[in-house]
Amino acid sequence: VVNKAFHPEPTVIDVRGIKIGDPSSVVMMAGPCTVETEEQLMEAARAVKAAGATILRGGAFKPSTSPYSFHGHGEAALKMLAAAREELNMPIITEVMDVRDVEMVCQYADILQIGTRNMANFSLLNEIGKTQTPALLKRGMAATIEEWLQAAEYIANQGNKNIMLCERGIRTFETYTRNTFDINAIPALKELSHLPVIADPSHATGKASLVSAVSRAAVAAGADGLIIEVHPNPEKALKDGAQSLLPEAFVKLMQDLAPICTAV
Ligand code: PEP
Ligand code: MN
Repeated sequence: VVNKAFHPEPTVIDVRGIKIGDPSSVVMMAGPCTVETEEQLMEAARAVKAAGATILRGGAFKPSTSPYSFHGHGEAALKMLAAAREELNMPIITEVMDVRDVEMVCQYADILQIGTRNMANFSLLNEIGKTQTPALLKRGMAATIEEWLQAAEYIANQGNKNIMLCERGIRTFETYTRNTFDINAIPALKELSHLPVIADPSHATGKASLVSAVSRAAVAAGADGLIIEVHPNPEKALKDGAQSLLPEAFVKLMQDLAPICTAV
């Protein structure tokens, strides 16, 4: 069960030696929204690693609001991520969208990401629950904290206890930002659950200029990790360019975080 009342000790998830949920450090996951080319991925990956990130993100299967936009390179992108892991010794996190792909994505991914649009896809949650691959469950963009915890319970109930929760912003009346980062969710989840909490300021704000400040706020509120989009050329990004940091901005973000946490 994900409820803290039944399991008071915090869950610490070990991903190839990186401890997620360890109260003494904040885990940095970073990389491009989407794997576009080998060059783009490797440039982003080398930059985030040099700046201090330890887990590489990259989308192979991309959810899109329009059926006509880019949906990612699929397994070809997973192979590129696996090659990046070999070269840089960084575990990889990538989204799985379809129940039929879970087994295949598990052959590559160190962490399975469940996107906001699939938080309540119960057949997907059940299938991921049958694996032992750590899962990062993003909050549904219109989900309450209680609904989100119930979704995590689906995964845990099938036997996979390696779950982390990711606040990625919710839908509100505000349009200046892409979503509204729910800072309340971080201490609320810590009160209700023993699972590690990750913050995604990139999707929460939709604006590169806001990402560093919201990252610091999330860490101050108790986040166990951050997941940040970084692209070597955000203007040319196939997805989420407006919120993607240039490598130098990611270096700055890491410097901004240094006084308040130990980033690993
Ligand atoms: C992503 O991480 O690129 C993504 C699609 O996130 P979300 O599901 O939070 O929109
Ligand atoms: Mn994205």
